[in-house]
Order: sequence, then C-alpha cells, then structure tokens
Amino acid sequence: MSIVTIALAGALSAGCAGTGEKPAAKAGGQNVMPAAAEPVKTPPPAGVPVLMYHKIGGEKGNDAVISEDRFAEHMEFLHKNGYRTLSLDELEAYLDGRAELPPNPVVLTFDDGYRDTYEIALSVLKKYGFKSTLFIPAGEADRRLTWEELKEMKAAGMEIGSHSYSHRDLGVMTPAQQATEIERSKEVLDRNLGQDSRFFCYPNGSYDGETLRLLKAKGFRLAVTIEPGWVKRGDNPLLLKRVWMGNGVDLKHFEARLTREDYPIL
Ligand SMILES: [Zn+2]
Repeated sequence: MSIVTIALAGALSAGCAGTGEKPAAKAGGQNVMPAAAEPVKTPPPAGVPVLMYHKIGGEKGNDAVISEDRFAEHMEFLHKNGYRTLSLDELEAYLDGRAELPPNPVVLTFDDGYRDTYEIALSVLKKYGFKSTLFIPAGEADRRLTWEELKEMKAAGMEIGSHSYSHRDLGVMTPAQQATEIERSKEVLDRNLGQDSRFFCYPNGSYDGETLRLLKAKGFRLAVTIEPGWVKRGDNPLLLKRVWMGNGVDLKHFEARLTREDYPIL
C-alpha cells in the first residue's frame, strides 16, 4: 500500500477547530529505493493508528454511531489488507522499545460498553481473530453488559480497560474525587473480572495533571485520549492519541486514516 506524502493536512483540517490535530513530520529516508538485486525492504511503520469506536447500530443524527454494515466493511478491509491488531500490552512493548511493530499495525478500541459491542462487534472480531480493547465505566458495567458477557469478551481477545467509575469529566473534579473515580473503577473491574487493570480511557477526553499523577500512582501504564493522531514511540504513554471512527468514515477515509499520519479530518 503506497503512502501519499502530499502535505494536505493544514488545509484539510482547517475546518475542525478544537480537534488539536497536529500532523507530525514524516520520518526521513523512506524514499530511498533499494538496488535492483536487493530484496525490497518495507519501511517500518511510522506509528500505530488506535481506532476509536463507540456505538454500532442504526441510530440517526449521531455520527459517532457507525452502522453495522460500515463497521463490517472496516473490519473486512483490515483483514483483506493484512492488518495486524495489537493488544495494549503489545502497544506498550513498542512504546517502551521492547518490541518492533509488525507491518500494518492497528489497535481497535471500543468506548463505553454498549450492548452492540457484545451483540454486533464481538462476532465480527472473532471471525477475523482480531484483538481489541473495551473501555467501560465500572459503575455502569453490569447495567450495560453482564459480568459473564464481559468475561466472554475477554476470553475472545477483548481486553477490558477502565473508563473511570461514573463516566464524568475528571478534569473538573477535585483530586479526592478523581482518586475515588480511578480507584473504584480499578477495584470493581479487578474483582469481577479477575484482572489487574492497567489501561485507562478518559471520559470525554477530560483530564488534568492530577489525573496523570493518580493513574501513575495506581499502576496504570497506558491511557487513551480523544486527541486525533497516531501513537508513536516517544509519546507520553498516558496521553495516547486515537483515530476517530464514525459513520462518515467510508472506506476511502478509513484507508487514509490507516496509511497517512496526516489523514484529513472530516
Ligand atoms: Zn465514554
């Protein structure tokens, strides 16, 4: 798959005030062609797109909801084009410098724990053997999905991460309130799922310096934001960018988001 390097991002993202999109510079040396006798070497991936899905279904007027057909198209595209889904442990190993990226890396994340993540997404992910991560507010977990369903999802390769306890903005809370949100979420997920939760997702992308300090103190190793972009070595592991997915992301835009770090924002 060729990587288009035309720098369009400045113009194309101009209509998306507040997204904070800052395409990073391209790595050098990728245009050097090998001599004819040498095997063609694929340049290492420049980073990892961490895809952010929410609800899947037929809801109109909310572009964060993706139709079942479009979601299936996305997953089929990944499968047909040889994409490799990474777990968050594998993403962390890349960020730490302990492992290199495979060709065509991608991370799949689902926020909030809607029933359709279990009823629609899971079977598609299982069909392709894709790894993924679900971020669920622990205080609402058993109202959205049962613990048995969550265990079944885990067994099928879906990591369950914390999305706080009550899904309220952390960045406007006192340190004590934030500590409660983070501690309770970890305690509830760990107790019910028999795990040691290490991955976090900020509700509505809201956090402050205290949030980062608390996450670190509680042993969280990676946390994802809603800031657009790819994840690259050198990034703060508690401030990872994600690639937004919604119904407007047709296959043309989907491919751009997977192959161009400076993908156009819709
Ligand atoms: Zn959320």
